[in-house]
Amino acid sequence: MDNLRGVSMDHAEQGTTQRLSAFIRGNLDAILTAWDDFARSLASGRHVDAAALRDHAGGMLRTIADDLDNAETVEEQHDKAQGRGARTGLESQAAQHGAARVASGFTFDETLSEFRALRASVLHLWAKANGQAAYMPLDDTVRFNEAIDEALTGSMERYALDKAEAMRQFDTLLSSSPDLQCILSPEGRFTYLNKTLAQLFAREAEQAVGKQLGELCPALAASLERDLAQALTSQAPVRGEIRCSAQPGPAVTYRYVLMPVINQNGEVASVTVTARNISELKASEDKILRYAYYDSLTDLPNRMLFRDRLEQEVRHAGRTGRKIAVLYIDLDGFKEVNDRFGHQAGDKVLQEAARRISGQVRVSDTVARLGGDEFTVILTEVGKVSYIDALVQDILRALAQPFEIDGHQANISGSIGVALFPDDGSGPEDLIRNADQAMFAAKKSGRNGHSFFTQTMRDSAWARQCVLHQLRHAVADEQLRVHYQPIVSMATGAIVKAEALVRWQHPECGLVLPDAFIGLAEESGLIGAIDAWVLEQALGRAHAWSAMLGTPFQVSVNKSPSDFMVRTGPGQSDDLARLLQAGSTVAVEITEGVMLSDSPGVRAKLRQMHDAGVKLTIDDFGIGYSSMAYLKKFKVDFLKIDKSFVRDMMESVESRVFAETIVLMAHRLGLEVIAEGVETPEQRDWLKAAGCDFAQGFLYSEARDVPGFEALLGAGR
Ligand code: C2E
Ligand code: CA
Ligand code: CA
Repeated sequence: MDNLRGVSMDHAEQGTTQRLSAFIRGNLDAILTAWDDFARSLASGRHVDAAALRDHAGGMLRTIADDLDNAETVEEQHDKAQGRGARTGLESQAAQHGAARVASGFTFDETLSEFRALRASVLHLWAKANGQAAYMPLDDTVRFNEAIDEALTGSMERYALDKAEAMRQFDTLLSSSPDLQCILSPEGRFTYLNKTLAQLFAREAEQAVGKQLGELCPALAASLERDLAQALTSQAPVRGEIRCSAQPGPAVTYRYVLMPVINQNGEVASVTVTARNISELKASEDKILRYAYYDSLTDLPNRMLFRDRLEQEVRHAGRTGRKIAVLYIDLDGFKEVNDRFGHQAGDKVLQEAARRISGQVRVSDTVARLGGDEFTVILTEVGKVSYIDALVQDILRALAQPFEIDGHQANISGSIGVALFPDDGSGPEDLIRNADQAMFAAKKSGRNGHSFFTQTMRDSAWARQCVLHQLRHAVADEQLRVHYQPIVSMATGAIVKAEALVRWQHPECGLVLPDAFIGLAEESGLIGAIDAWVLEQALGRAHAWSAMLGTPFQVSVNKSPSDFMVRTGPGQSDDLARLLQAGSTVAVEITEGVMLSDSPGVRAKLRQMHDAGVKLTIDDFGIGYSSMAYLKKFKVDFLKIDKSFVRDMMESVESRVFAETIVLMAHRLGLEVIAEGVETPEQRDWLKAAGCDFAQGFLYSEARDVPGFEALLGAGR
């Protein structure tokens, strides 16, 4: 502050003394410039510029200068003695100053030092201007100091007021939050709490301030103190979750974060805590978890959880060398209950069955519902087989009790299959499959019984696995063959069509007929590939034979219901596209079940086929529902009377009547009729007389390989 640039030195040279008021007015710029460096350092990094600070200071100094000129009145002196400032202009300026500093985020110390610097600038420059030996009017100096003090006090008062107001706003803001918020001293005392937290402690925030964690929340103190200590040492946020059993009401879960507040010395001055009630979030998470792992109808573990538990139990039993048993329970007669009393009643039966099964086992055992009317039980730590035997009997007895449902009485029973670990399987999959197979055996040997998995079952399961394995290769290794059986016109006796029938040329077993492997292919999903391949072969033949005969020759292919109804995806649409392209050179044989399912997918597929001219044959007609309504709805072209009617025809009047009726009805609907399994001339003659259009059977020929079939065609010509 030795910068005297611009300060008038006249009086120092003349040895006269200038009044302070005149000095301030005359050298305001120089004073403020001397003070500037300081002001700039304060302003930097704040939302306030140095010019504004300078204006404030200048205004205040001008007011002080005016004041110094006015001799103090008696009242003013009196007021001052009473501690009341008389300089009303200065007072309001000081208040403005304080308010502005709070708004700009100045600290208390910074605001104080601003005044100290101003005072120093004025007195320093004034002394210099007056020369070393010069006499400085004492009165002016005193009065200037008084004025600066007054401005300082005014500013500080306002500063404190505004600061308190800001705190109140802050408190209001935090207290309107549903979250719990507080500030803790490093010693774990509350220095601030928002209203939400104070209410939780059932006291006013003011009463709680200063209290220790342990005094206000003894139950949680230990764990919170641990977190606090961690926040203090790590100087980093500490997060956690805490569950409190609120009285009264259900337990509440909070997710919280402790944030250390670091002071200028790099120490943790305090720790803020925010905690949020996440009970609802938790509840919905739990719900999602329940949904994924539990059956909503019975509240029992579902297939997924059952599988997990079984895996755990198997691992545990493997370590401890204990036995476990898996029971596979299927309800007998449940479908009838459902059909008779409706789904709601069915649901109640399932719930009650779940209760009855659970009632027979230990809490440590797992009862699960796999879906439908199938339940499973994991029995852990089974000592003797006789124990399982007795328990299974108990479950069967419990299930055989009548079910009272909405005033009706329903009777069901159970069939139970048992597989043991480690005897009957080493992993969950084996155990489930083998228990299922044992259940199936129990069901077959009469209901309401149980069966343990046996060596024989193991053998047949093993055989099945082998066949499936080989069948997979059969498709790739081209072991499949298609044989063609002629279909003749009853009117002319000529071969007019053929049915494609698949065979498996097994390397060891020879030619295997489809009944031995189609079922397995359907269950395993292999049927799609097989049918697609057969279709390709049949189409090739149909084209070749049409060309050979010079007239369209139709070949029909069989489509498995499971494949036709369920399979979608790229393979299926290729297959369908090929069919649609083939048009009327191909006929598709499906069973009635496909139509009865009446799903939008099937309906669309059948319509597409019809539009493309593909002929639709209902195979094995008569053994199923024989619904005439569907025949019309789905625009069926041919009906194939099942071979059982043809076989019984000569002996059974009913079969004859039935065949006759079918032909009549079919013709009325515009369909043609094929009789299959025609083995004798009598059957042929009778069918012809009944008006049947086509016939197929050993009487004409069995299914033959391509050369064999072509020989037939050639002979026919
Ligand atoms: P299906 O569609 O009812 O085929 C007629 C079955 O009756 C054929 O048995 C045929 O050889 C046999 N058959 C023909 N004439 C006579 C006769 O006069 N008397 C007797 N008793 N039987 C006769 P196959 O070839 O063993 O086929 C059995 C079943 O396998 C077929 O029954 C069909 O449902 C299925 N199948 C055959 N090939 C395929 C195929 O490529 N795909 C699908 N999904 N299933 C096929
Ligand atoms: Ca057929
Ligand atoms: Ca048939």
